[in-house]
Amino acid sequence: MKITEVKAVYPKYQHLLAAWRVHFWQIVVRVESDAGLVGLGYGGGGVAAVEVVNRHFRELLLDRRVDSPADIAAIWDDLYAASLPYGRRGLAVMALSGVDLALWDLLARAEGLPVYKLIGRRQKEQVRAYATGVDPAWYRDLGFTAHKFPHRWTGDLAEYEQAANSAAQARRLFGPEALLMIDSYMSWDAVVTQEMARRLTEYDIYWFEDVLTPDHLAEQARLRELVKPVLMAGGEHEFTPYGFAEVARHQALDIWQPDVTWCGGITATLRIIDLAEGVGARVVPHRGGEVWGLHLMVATACDDLAEVLPSQHHVPNDQLWFDEPTPVNGYLSPTEAPGFGVTLNEALI
Ligand SMILES: [Mg+2]
Repeated sequence: MKITEVKAVYPKYQHLLAAWRVHFWQIVVRVESDAGLVGLGYGGGGVAAVEVVNRHFRELLLDRRVDSPADIAAIWDDLYAASLPYGRRGLAVMALSGVDLALWDLLARAEGLPVYKLIGRRQKEQVRAYATGVDPAWYRDLGFTAHKFPHRWTGDLAEYEQAANSAAQARRLFGPEALLMIDSYMSWDAVVTQEMARRLTEYDIYWFEDVLTPDHLAEQARLRELVKPVLMAGGEHEFTPYGFAEVARHQALDIWQPDVTWCGGITATLRIIDLAEGVGARVVPHRGGEVWGLHLMVATACDDLAEVLPSQHHVPNDQLWFDEPTPVNGYLSPTEAPGFGVTLNEALI
């Protein structure tokens, strides 16, 4: 089939109180084909990425044929090359991610298959979900057996104690078998990270996430050796196989966390998974519990751990996608519906 129209939209989100972190500037990309089908993708980058898609990628996509994953990979390479002068990382690749996911959705719908079947052999019946956020008792009640909580370092020494209190509370709520992780969102440094590893030993933390910024890979690699057995996770702010090749070269992280809707879509993440396997790193996609990551996870060697952000109990959230699978007893599974299996909430478009 041939591509006949491409349009990116920034949704009319209603709940914007906590700014960027609520919606991550997520955009919707819609691709139409001469087969009368529509593919929908989810990207990042906000209105800037919308402009990249509508004013640049669209003209390169019209009349292109999409009949196989190889066609999508060729399109990915062409759009990456065309946007290279202003792209390579960040907004342009977040825009490319939305296009890539829309093309996978389109092709899967044309074949009448869920996306995971287009990617490859099913390797997991379901995926263990972990809940990220600050409402651990609610997550426990929802059936999660793995949980990640945020911790921000601002320089106040009392924050060591706060981290220990959060870890103790989570361990008490979830029990000795649960996986517990901490995301510092690039606020720790080498000293804080090592001190946290020492002080939190009794709570058996599985990984520390994003302790440094992605520009400090050599330091990250050094720290990785110093905080064992705690694993080092990161990568939600890294892009494309070219970016992750640097993570591999430095042996910077135990656990790679590409965001499928930011790092270049499924096409890029499949290449990133190959790179990770080459250096013995594990892949746990950022927000992997959303359909865009979930289809990839069940059909690849990704670890059996999918991130879900359930918000907080009784806090309203925009529902942009209908029919998203929700965790049952802490486990997630994609549906058999064609494409990614979700429907767009047109009221927000
Ligand atoms: Mg994170």
